[in-house]
Amino acid sequence: MVVETEIGHSQAVAVNSAAHRQLYAKRAPVHPKLVSGQFRLIKTAILILTLGVYYLTPFLRWNHGPGEPDQAVLVDFPGRKIYLFFIELWPQDVAYVSGLLILGALALFLSNALFGRVWCGFTCPQTVWTDLYITVERLIEGDRNARLRLDKAPWSADKITKKVIKHAIWLLIAAATGGALVMYFHDVRTLFPEVFLGTAPMGAYMFGALLTFTTYALAGTMREQVCTYMCPWPRIQAAMTDSEALQVTYKRDRGEPRGPHKRGQAWDNRGDCVDCTACVAACPMGIDIREGSQIECINCGLCVDACDEIMVKVERPKGLIAFDTDDNADRRQAGLAPRWRPIRARTLIYVAVMAVIAGLMGWSLLTRSSIDLNVLRDRNPTFVRLSDGSVRNAYTIRVLNKTNAARGFELRSEGLPLALDVVGGAVEPSGAIRFELEADGVRTLRVLARHAADGLPAGRAPVTFVVEAEDGAELAVKSIFVASEQRGP
Ligand code: SF4
Ligand code: SF4
Repeated sequence: MVVETEIGHSQAVAVNSAAHRQLYAKRAPVHPKLVSGQFRLIKTAILILTLGVYYLTPFLRWNHGPGEPDQAVLVDFPGRKIYLFFIELWPQDVAYVSGLLILGALALFLSNALFGRVWCGFTCPQTVWTDLYITVERLIEGDRNARLRLDKAPWSADKITKKVIKHAIWLLIAAATGGALVMYFHDVRTLFPEVFLGTAPMGAYMFGALLTFTTYALAGTMREQVCTYMCPWPRIQAAMTDSEALQVTYKRDRGEPRGPHKRGQAWDNRGDCVDCTACVAACPMGIDIREGSQIECINCGLCVDACDEIMVKVERPKGLIAFDTDDNADRRQAGLAPRWRPIRARTLIYVAVMAVIAGLMGWSLLTRSSIDLNVLRDRNPTFVRLSDGSVRNAYTIRVLNKTNAARGFELRSEGLPLALDVVGGAVEPSGAIRFELEADGVRTLRVLARHAADGLPAGRAPVTFVVEAEDGAELAVKSIFVASEQRGP
């Protein structure tokens, strides 16, 4: 704390600035060195797979039926539908989207309980695009040392050329990323030429430009700072993890005391770490895993690959840095064999909850109706007593044909002897209301339901409206018929 009266104003300012210097450190650019090994291989495979899926999915075709768009994955706002290959979701089916999000969150919790932050290290879009951007940077400016030298070098024609080419390719990737996102919301065969002809909807350009900018900024310029400062998951993950989750760990008991080692020297009374800092140079987060578990670590395993390479060179066993649990550090110190228990209470609970949600969603998806029926009873007035003593209630009934074919429908009431009438339509001699609906069509009916004076229920009575399609599909919705102000039994 600064007390001006004791040390004077100028000293106070000096102390204050010193305090600020401690609280703020300018970012040192991180230039990870390319490593080879199993985790680099897995990361590259996932990078190709995820980017391939993201960029190419809008171009996949699927026959959704006559008159429907043939894009396999499409969020069709004007048509009020989401197409996911053989699944079509209506606004009424938003629960499935919520269910998928809940399943995604639980899968993240499960992967955290088993393997720590592997989502961050391998599949998070921020990691995948940053990895792609670093690959481009490496191709143009060279590996770590060349990039560090280039950063420090004064501006020259060579430096300007390299930087311009790098940023131009980054912008192209960003534009392709923004463009691909827009294609998930528009028919790609219509939109693709329109974008280049300048005739696409303004929203397509705006959202494309927004994602172009965010991709370039987050993956190109901000990189590891997004994970360290902007993303909430590291904090949530730190609170959720336990001592039996696999984390990238430096085996201190084996590595220390560290120090340089010359070929032919004995390994007695020292650790296996030769202090080469290859693990630090490989880290895309710019941290030293030998300092212990850190919130910045994304569990990408690249330091494992880097250290394994060194261990092979110095002829020591691989795995000085490895995926390991906190428990095992204690077990090794106690002379016990390391172990990993993927099946434990929390993982079983996650799997069970996921299975229940996935099962319920699957069952509901398979058995969902091809009709949607919405019944809204008039509340003002709640009922009308006619001159012959009968009572009439009015309903607004909305029927949706959730198929890709026109169908005939019949609407009837059950549970009470009601005579139905429809405003602007005709009623069958059977008392049912018949109407046609085109594919994906919606019809709103103004229905008047009348109960004769004889046998009028007291107060409110339950009634069911049933809509039946000509192909036998049927849906019933319960409502209320109000016969008087009196409360029913
Ligand atoms: S410390 Fe290792 S696992 Fe963690 S982010 Fe750095 S390279 Fe990846
Ligand atoms: S790569 Fe391995 S040997 Fe080299 S400093 Fe890191 S932990 Fe030590």
